[in-house]
Amino acid sequence: MQYISKTIPASKRVALVAHDNRKGDLIEWCGRHKLLLEQHQLLGTGTTGARLEAATGLSVQKLLSGPLGGDQQLGARIAEGEIDLLVFFWDPFEPMPHDPDVKALLRIAAVWNIPVACNSASADMMVRSVLMGAAFERPVPDYAGYLAAR
Ligand code: PGA
Repeated sequence: MQYISKTIPASKRVALVAHDNRKGDLIEWCGRHKLLLEQHQLLGTGTTGARLEAATGLSVQKLLSGPLGGDQQLGARIAEGEIDLLVFFWDPFEPMPHDPDVKALLRIAAVWNIPVACNSASADMMVRSVLMGAAFERPVPDYAGYLAAR
């Protein structure tokens, strides 16, 4: 695979999603990192975004609720290069009625080489990286070249 280097600015576009049993964990995580997260642009699925805003005072651009298409909206934004990081606290214990959306969101993040954290330990490491507050070069897969060579 060939990659094209894309400059990600210091201020990142951070997507936030949590399943119902994990929303408390995401609220706690966002509260702990509030000062840092305020430096970035936050967006999330509808209920997650609303709960985060109410609990932390952070400003979150709210898409549709996940089961109503919010996960797919986030996936589309990743594919269009409009999201830099995904923090997705999915529930490992309770299968979601919209599990295909969960899989699709994780898949498209892998396709476009987006940093993803699915639990607070990973998310801590991600936002404590020196790259979080600096511009960095993200290798974006060159699918045009890949498809042309097939
Ligand atoms: P919600 O969606 O933030 O609207 O609850 C999350 C999800 O289940 O994908």
